[in-house]
Amino acid sequence: MLSVMDRGKEVFMNTYAQFPIVLEKGDGVYVYDQEGNKYLDFVAGIAVNGLGYNHAGLQKALKDQVDKLTHCSNLYWNEPAVEAAELLVKLSGLDKIFFCNSGAEAVEGAMKLARKYAGKYLGPDKVEIIAMNNSFHGRTYGAVTATGQLKYQKGLSPLLPGIKHCEYNDIESLQEAMNDKTCAVLIEPIQGEGGIRPAEKDYLQEVSKLCKKNNVLLMLDEVQCGVGRTGYMFAYQRYGIEPDIVALAKGLGGGVPIGAIMASKKVAEGFSPGDHASTYGGNALVCAGAKVVLEVVGQETLLEQVRKKGTYLKAQLTNLQEKFNDIIEVRGHGLMLGMEMNKPVKEIILGCMAKGLLLVGSGEKIIRFVPPLIVEEKEIDFMVTILEEVMSEIG
Ligand code: PMP
Repeated sequence: MLSVMDRGKEVFMNTYAQFPIVLEKGDGVYVYDQEGNKYLDFVAGIAVNGLGYNHAGLQKALKDQVDKLTHCSNLYWNEPAVEAAELLVKLSGLDKIFFCNSGAEAVEGAMKLARKYAGKYLGPDKVEIIAMNNSFHGRTYGAVTATGQLKYQKGLSPLLPGIKHCEYNDIESLQEAMNDKTCAVLIEPIQGEGGIRPAEKDYLQEVSKLCKKNNVLLMLDEVQCGVGRTGYMFAYQRYGIEPDIVALAKGLGGGVPIGAIMASKKVAEGFSPGDHASTYGGNALVCAGAKVVLEVVGQETLLEQVRKKGTYLKAQLTNLQEKFNDIIEVRGHGLMLGMEMNKPVKEIILGCMAKGLLLVGSGEKIIRFVPPLIVEEKEIDFMVTILEEVMSEIG
C-alpha cells in the first residue's frame, strides 16, 4: 500500500514542494498528522486560519449552513452573503463589496474595476497600473503580471499589457512611474511573500496623497495582511489612509475559500451588471463562515490582543537576535512578522517540524510568523523555545 504522499505524487501536478507530513485534523493552534504527531502551528494555512482550528462558532455556522443551503449562484440573493458584506462595509468604511473565491481573483477583480472606472469616468487613455517591485499578488495572469518578482513570471510571457513596476517604499520611484495614463497603484501595506516587508507609514501616506492629487486609484492588496492580521481590522487603518479599492481573501473565511473586493461607492460604479461575475463567489456556505470570522475578529478586544501578542512575539524574536548573529532583522506588524537570516532557513524549518512546530519561509532567507490570531503567550514562548533549540543545534 502506497503512502498518501506517494499517491499524491502520482496524481498531482508538480507544483508544490510539499513537506513530508500528512495533516489530518486541527484543534485550537495545533494540527495533527496521520500518525498522531502534534504540531504547534505558526503557519495557520498561510495566514488563513485566524480563529485557529475547530473554532466552535465557525464550525457551527458552517455545519448549520450545510444543512440549509451551500450554493445557489449569484442569480439569486442569499442572506449570509448580504450579512458578510454588511459587516465588511461597517468595519472598513468602504461602501461596496464583490465576493470571489481567492486572493488572485480579488486582485484580478480589483484591476478590472480600476480600468472600468477609469474608462468610464477618467478618460480612455487611463489604463496603466503601477505595482511594486518584490510584491506578490497571485498566480492568475493579471495577478502574476502585477507581481513584482521575476521568478513567478518565468516562461509565462506574453504577460498582461499595461502593468509596470516601481520601487517599494520609495516615493520618488512612484512619482517617476506615474503619468497621464496611470489609472491605479497596486500595493501591499506589508509585502507578504516578498519577505514580510512593511510599508513605512510616511511613505504610504505620501502614496495616498500622490494618488489623490493625480486622480489615480489607490488599490491595496490586503489578501495576507487584512482581517485582523496586523492588529487592525485592515492594515490601512494602521496607516491612516483611505484606499479606493481593497482586495481580501485568506483570513476572511478562516479556512473556507472566499475572497472579496471592497470599494468606495464612487469607484464601485465602474462596474455595471454583466461586467464581472463568479459562479461560486460569495456562496451561502463560505459567507456563513466569513460572517463569523468578521464578527469575532472585528471586535476591538480581539484586535487589541493581536497587537499585544504581536508586540510580545516581536520582543521574543528580537531577544533571539541578540543570541544569534545569523539573524539580520525582525520586522512586521501584529501577528505578521518575519525574521531575516543571513542564510537559507529551510533547515531550521525542517528541524522545527521534527520537534512539533510548523513554520513557513517567505523567500529563501526569511522565516515568517503568522499564527492563528487566537494564539496565547504561552504558545509563543513554546514556539520560541523550540526555534531557539533548533537554531542552537544547527549552529
Ligand atoms: N495577494 C497576496 C498579498 C498574497 O499573499 C497572496 C497569497 N499568498 C495572493 C494575493 C494570492 O492569493 P491566492 O493564493 O488565494 O490566490
